Amino acid sequence: MGKIIKISGPLIVADGMRDVKMYDVVRVSEKGLIGEVIELRGDKASIQVYEETSMLGTGEPVVSTEQPLSVELGPGLIGSIYDGIQRPLESLYSLSGARIDRGVGAPALDRGRKWEFAPAVEKGDAVESGDVLGTVKENEVVEHRIMVPFGVSGKVEKISAGAFTAEDTVAVITDGKKSHNVTMIQRWPVRRGRPYKEKLPPVELLTTGQRVVDTLFPIARGGVAAVPGPFGSGKTVLQHALAKWSDADIIVYVGCGERGNEMTDVLNEFPELIDPKTGQPLMKRTVLIANTSDMPVAAREASIYTGITIAEYYRDMGYSVAIMADSTSRWAEALREMSGRLQEMPGEEGYPAYLSSRLAEFYERAGAVKLCGSAERIGSVTAIGAVSPPGGDMSEPVSQATLRIVKVFWGLSSALAYKRHFPAIDWLVSYSLYSDRLSDWFARNVDEKFTAYRAEISRILQDEARLDEIVRLVGIDALSPRDRLTMEAAKSVREDYLHQNSFHEVDTYTSLAKQFKMLKLIVDFYHRALRALDDGAGVNAILALPCREQIGRAKYVKEDEIDSLDKLHDEMLKQLSELKKEDE
Ligand code: ADP
Ligand code: MG
Repeated sequence: MGKIIKISGPLIVADGMRDVKMYDVVRVSEKGLIGEVIELRGDKASIQVYEETSMLGTGEPVVSTEQPLSVELGPGLIGSIYDGIQRPLESLYSLSGARIDRGVGAPALDRGRKWEFAPAVEKGDAVESGDVLGTVKENEVVEHRIMVPFGVSGKVEKISAGAFTAEDTVAVITDGKKSHNVTMIQRWPVRRGRPYKEKLPPVELLTTGQRVVDTLFPIARGGVAAVPGPFGSGKTVLQHALAKWSDADIIVYVGCGERGNEMTDVLNEFPELIDPKTGQPLMKRTVLIANTSDMPVAAREASIYTGITIAEYYRDMGYSVAIMADSTSRWAEALREMSGRLQEMPGEEGYPAYLSSRLAEFYERAGAVKLCGSAERIGSVTAIGAVSPPGGDMSEPVSQATLRIVKVFWGLSSALAYKRHFPAIDWLVSYSLYSDRLSDWFARNVDEKFTAYRAEISRILQDEARLDEIVRLVGIDALSPRDRLTMEAAKSVREDYLHQNSFHEVDTYTSLAKQFKMLKLIVDFYHRALRALDDGAGVNAILALPCREQIGRAKYVKEDEIDSLDKLHDEMLKQLSELKKEDE
């Protein structure tokens, strides 16, 4: 047992700690506050404390639990709302009122609740780590698969169907020498990635229903993406849209709010959202990890590890999981604060030199993988981190380190946000390194021509940027009729397609089928208009066609009425073909 010798905000130093290991969890003072050893020098341990430390005094005891910071994994995670070290917020609130009392420990998973366990293997079967032993219905949406824990393999000695609590033994596995009682709870140290057999190249689209994302800068299942942008540019709205609409099986949302009430919005809003596909509340596939602004910084630092460990656990069941972290800059600041208090040598802008390796460690835990176990199974974790560079200056360390790691970059621009063009993803600087690899996927699952249409709208937008220069120099009147049509096509791409209102009940989500129909309308109109121009039609007559306004409203066509867009396409062709030759 050690004693506190120094307290510096969330960091304390204790002596008499010769027997503890790095990253051991300790209990601090009689109150049992939770802390984690983050530096060891001789018998002195520096400990980041996950709770308010203001009432602590020197001389108070510190006891090691001899365990690394771990999470509980098992049925009951879905729908839960946790803090950064997986304390359930709801039961904490009911235990101690609105503010969380120090040292309060509620178990992450409900101990009293019984789950109906259905075995998937039989007595005598040989099983290895990762194999599915049986399932429980976690809720109407999620089948929870109980897996053989890592480090255990052998023959099933006993397994039975029935109602069990998470701590009951559901199966006994013997490896000849030893019998292992398997329960529905696994514990896993958050700072260590869960094992898998092999990483696979990400080749499947994670559909998000966000047109600019899916069409221009798509993310693959198992991919890594960053959303950098200054304050107010729409990072949080985009992360929410992705959490709501991505076609992942499971969503883990880690919120480190920038505004105090931002997490409250999440906590109020998410439980009310309904999944259009299942008709069930979206919380039935979601785990929320919330760091409200009154929570200590150290818990914020732990939260992304807690989140990604839970994500990996569902991946191991064979699911496609997406984790959103908003914002990783708040996490990095927590890291910086702890590093400063440890008096480590500061790197750029005060961040520790290990900032980029820590960020890389987080993102590297994403991926599509071949899972452990005897059966061929795959699962994936897709990671999407928001970054909020102060003043929007992307040269700062967190943005730079993140950019070196991620494969998709959705750069939000304050200029677009100022013009109320949302999502404010700047199409001239953003990129997705998955788009080439996903071409096949689009061809097979949406339309053979999808990639060609996508390339065409990129080209139109590039042309607009070039023409903008000319317009700035010599004015709009100097443009040829062809260039005018190109400028109008670009405007249509921006306003009718890329702009998407997250708060409009129809516009908030667009299926890939609808995205393709919209693309076809906009691009085909442009190409046919160019041809009509060549055939002698006047540019003003083309631009005055009534179908243009209808194309602009295509985004508001409901998903079950998108066949009407094909009719609009026919109508558009008809209107163009009926244009008369204009007299010279
Ligand atoms: P950030 O997290 O980058 O600070 P927010 O996500 O909170 O910014 O967005 C700021 C505001 O911008 C929102 O409150 C909303 O009014 C507007 N906004 C952002 N994205 C959209 C969108 N897709 N549709 C409509 N409004 C949006
Ligand atoms: Mg935000």
